[in-house]
Amino acid sequence: DTERAEGDEAELRAVLRDFWGYDSFRPLQKEAMQCGLAGRDSVVVLPTGGGKSLCYQAPAAVLHRRTGAVAVVVSPLIALMKDQVDALTAIGVPAAFVNSTLPPEEKIAVSRRLRDKELACLYAAPETLVTDRMLDFLSELDVSFVAIDEAHCVSQWGHDFRPEYRQLGMLRERFPDAAMHGYTATAGQKVREDVAFQLNLHDPAMLVGSFDRPNLTFRARPASGTLGQIREVVKRHDGESGIVYCISRKKVDETADALRGLGVRAIAYHAGMSKEERTAAQDAFLADREDVVVATVAFGMGIDKPDVRFVVHAGMPKSIEHYQQEAGRAGRDGLASECLLLHSGGDYRFWKSTLGELPPEPRANAEQSLNALYDYAQGALCRHKALVRYFDQDLESDDCGACDICLGEVETVDDPLILGQKIVSCVYRLEQRFGGNHTADVLTGSKSEAVLSKGHDSLSTYGLLSDHPKKAVRDWIEQLVGQGFLAKVGEYATLRITEAGQQLLKGERKPVLLAPAKKVAAERPKRTS
Ligand code: ADP
Ligand code: ZN
Repeated sequence: DTERAEGDEAELRAVLRDFWGYDSFRPLQKEAMQCGLAGRDSVVVLPTGGGKSLCYQAPAAVLHRRTGAVAVVVSPLIALMKDQVDALTAIGVPAAFVNSTLPPEEKIAVSRRLRDKELACLYAAPETLVTDRMLDFLSELDVSFVAIDEAHCVSQWGHDFRPEYRQLGMLRERFPDAAMHGYTATAGQKVREDVAFQLNLHDPAMLVGSFDRPNLTFRARPASGTLGQIREVVKRHDGESGIVYCISRKKVDETADALRGLGVRAIAYHAGMSKEERTAAQDAFLADREDVVVATVAFGMGIDKPDVRFVVHAGMPKSIEHYQQEAGRAGRDGLASECLLLHSGGDYRFWKSTLGELPPEPRANAEQSLNALYDYAQGALCRHKALVRYFDQDLESDDCGACDICLGEVETVDDPLILGQKIVSCVYRLEQRFGGNHTADVLTGSKSEAVLSKGHDSLSTYGLLSDHPKKAVRDWIEQLVGQGFLAKVGEYATLRITEAGQQLLKGERKPVLLAPAKKVAAERPKRTS
């Protein structure tokens, strides 16, 4: 078996060199490709730019060379299929695609090439693939494996569930001899396991890469004079490529106008524009004729511009998955790049108000992910750490050197140790039986019924932080939770003191606590003309 693995590896290296001109594997590519060759089901989770496509393209090329078998690649991005197929064809890996946009005579040409074993990869849209005709036709062929791109779309737990993906579960039955592989850039453990379950994978290899993007510097700020905040970043990257995401089409147009007024080569992109206008905008950006794309979320899926030097979110997106994916479009070439997230309570309430239409379960997920992003934005934990933790990973270092928190750019309180100790002591006095709200009431000396009736006004920690607004104390408690000094447990989110919290009480560990935010005015980009 090791002998076979070594042979496989040598063959993969040769294919990588001869067709793609690459001389090494990216992290986990080798393992993922070996699953492809060995016919072992797998779920491959790599960040955007991690090189997922190669994980199925290279083994498909090898298997086609060996036996003439074809790999079926399921992708939701119809608009990109042609590009992907052209790129493969150009380097000598024979590929084709089928989707609803393909004229019948070309479909016939593709089926002929499939029968003649000419193709290494067949790209298919999910809804095209699961038709009876298509499945009957394919089951007569030698299918090496089925690769499912953007596999999180199969899970309701994911942030981008697509009903047409749900049917892919039947592929296992229709292709009992072909291995199945799912690829995604976003999947916490729950989604990962659900992907495997929904696709009926058999004992899949779970290959999960590191989600950290060390070359990105992350910052998060309350929105306050948004245009000025965007401009600051654009100025640092004069003449370089960047993306500015806005929540609404109107904001996109306003912001693009305003940036142009400042002499920036900026262009708008949103779904309200015609297809031609959008393609023109995208091409101008890719060809460096425009520096900055101001866009809604409609922009970016599948766009591989390696030298995007910054991504600014002028408004907060609706989930931490969206943020990770959109910000992740910066610095695909591995060079230093920056990401700035501007957030406000208004954005939060806007997204929250849109959740009402969802059924209960997706709604709870969407809400959890929205809350996680808001916590991330307002939190005082290293941004790199906070992002990977959401995806069930961790980082060793306590100082990433590449986020506003670790770089000391964020205004913090002067004596976080004493402040943290006061708060944790209060949790201790309350016998770790109350939540954040009540704890903040006690610390700020509230005379509420709940405090007085329990006699908590006689605790030694009562009113200890009465010179701070309750909101500030409440935020600090959340920050202590975020940094692991306190934990919320049970249905009532009761505060408990963790091991780290004990160390804090002894002065062995120090938290980072943010200075209370100054009041931020509701902000619209100012027109310059
Ligand atoms: P993903 O789908 O994970 O976002 P891609 O498959 O689009 O990533 O790959 C991102 C970029 O990295 C592409 O330009 C690709 O050609 C390049 N790439 C992938 N694997 C390698 C490798 N082993 N060596 C060099 N470049 C690679
Ligand atoms: Zn950091």
